[in-house]
Amino acid sequence: MSESELQQRAKDAASKAYAPYSQFKVGCALLTKSGNVYTGCNVENASYGLTVCAERNAIANAINEEGEIEIDKIVVYTPTPTPTPPCGACRQVIHEFGNPEIKSFCEGEKSNTHKSNALLPYAFDLNKD
Ligand SMILES: [Zn+2]
Repeated sequence: MSESELQQRAKDAASKAYAPYSQFKVGCALLTKSGNVYTGCNVENASYGLTVCAERNAIANAINEEGEIEIDKIVVYTPTPTPTPPCGACRQVIHEFGNPEIKSFCEGEKSNTHKSNALLPYAFDLNKD
């Protein structure tokens, strides 16, 4: 799947977001090593802290649908003038499933692309020193 198709899938996912409190509708599309694509949107809750981000919902969908845990690329869309990289909680969850490239894009022309390990150096990991 091309980069622009992944971006379109992320943007489409954002349109499904449940964000009545922040109005901040985020969409994520992730590409697994097997070539499948899964999407997620943010789902807010009245008790704010229970809100789940688009990135974590996309990962949950990959696992729920096909048991996929190897992620190659993650594309995140936010309806903002500048790109918004994943939050700290999502960075930790992404780390669990490899060191994928993460691209953040938005309504503006700018985008950011980083490897997961660059966004979360020294991540919590039970399997490392
Ligand atoms: Zn997040």
